[in-house]
Amino acid sequence: MENNWYTLAREIRDARKITVLTGAGISTESGIPDFRSSGGLWSNNRSFVDIVSKDYYEEDPAAFWHAFKDIFQIKLAGQYLPNKGHHFFADLENMGKEVSIITQNIDGLHELAGSTNVFEIHGNIRQAYCPTCQQGYDLSYINESDVPTCSTMTRKVSCQTVLKPNVVLYGDKVHDIDQAFEAALTSDLLIIAGTSLEVTPVNYIPLEAVKMGTKTAIINKEKTRFDPYLDVVIHSGIGDAVDTLQRLVQA
Ligand code: NAD
Repeated sequence: MENNWYTLAREIRDARKITVLTGAGISTESGIPDFRSSGGLWSNNRSFVDIVSKDYYEEDPAAFWHAFKDIFQIKLAGQYLPNKGHHFFADLENMGKEVSIITQNIDGLHELAGSTNVFEIHGNIRQAYCPTCQQGYDLSYINESDVPTCSTMTRKVSCQTVLKPNVVLYGDKVHDIDQAFEAALTSDLLIIAGTSLEVTPVNYIPLEAVKMGTKTAIINKEKTRFDPYLDVVIHSGIGDAVDTLQRLVQA
């Protein structure tokens, strides 16, 4: 295991271009539950998929917002802060690296940590928009009413369309996936952190990166079925991993 730490530290030092692929596990140490760990949001609950869906939003947008706000209540409060993991990846830019972050998370914590090139492929829960006139709204507006509606005025008539969260719902297309692949496949190093890699199409990125000769590393608490294909595998919590890596990268 110790070898893995040194190898990853060396790869980080040597790489010019680094892509980081993250999932819910990078934000658990900020207090946000992940998806598939015990106690995670999924909890084998099929109704989650039915509720957080494009079909439900289109069928009954008001009921959708009640259920959606209930499920993501804590996140909507916007009280969470980036942790050591988010900061470590943001700080790679200060080391002069060209860094892209591909995140499956919707919590916006990579940008809050200071990362400047973030692909939020599943969107961002802190934003919503009007599907009629495309006007965007922020978290405080979303939280002003139970069912947020568009307040844009056109010829003295208020639009009033029920907003859609800027989150990829089941049935929606993921955002920026081509750019995400491009970033990963043209990098010297792909670091995967805090994801079970169970979600498609993002879980094709590591395998494609391996084929292209990009060095690959994963930092995750539990094993994933992709571990055997990756160059460096570290099973650790992200905070502990960062403590070790910071020391070795600077050594
Ligand atoms: P997942 O729950 O399937 O997997 C999370 C992985 O992170 C697990 O393998 C777990 O072992 C690992 N993990 C948990 N805590 C960790 C820690 N402290 N350090 C290192 N690893 C840790 O999550 P996923 O792969 O991202 O897929 C879930 C989907 O749910 C994603 O599409 C995402 O959009 C969504 N989601 C997002 C959030 C968020 O925005 N924070 C939270 C829950 C779910």
